Amino acid sequence: MMSDCIFCKIAAGEIPSTKVYEDDIVLAFKDLEPQAPTHVLLIPKAHIASAAEITPENSALVAHIFEVAAKLAKELRLDNGFRVVNNCGEDGMQSVQHLHFHMLGGKKMGWPPYPAN
Ligand code: 5GP
Ligand code: ZN
Repeated sequence: MMSDCIFCKIAAGEIPSTKVYEDDIVLAFKDLEPQAPTHVLLIPKAHIASAAEITPENSALVAHIFEVAAKLAKELRLDNGFRVVNNCGEDGMQSVQHLHFHMLGGKKMGWPPYPAN
């Protein structure tokens, strides 16, 4: 655990969150500032700083996170679809430096997801 990482603290239960799924590897909880009617964050419990840190040694947990997302889509009744987003690094507008995937649904999303330059 990284002592100054907010998502490590959420994973450890030191900061409260509204959990929607938990197992030994993954935690899913509601985003504090939802950007859609359903907005859940999926994180590995182990600290990985970003998607740029995914390696052959740790990539299995990404597959697991997507399995959990598919399961949650059914539980959360996102029958009409959903979006999974990962923001990585400065250009990706990542604000919390612990790997996480946003799962958004319950409305029709826009595309592209960024302003044209
Ligand atoms: P990022 O911008 O890094 O892709 O996403 C970070 C997300 O974490 C944001 O959507 C933000 O609302 C959410 N967030 C930041 N701090 C907390 C917190 O303490 N609790 C919860 N539930 N979400 C948080
Ligand atoms: Zn962390």
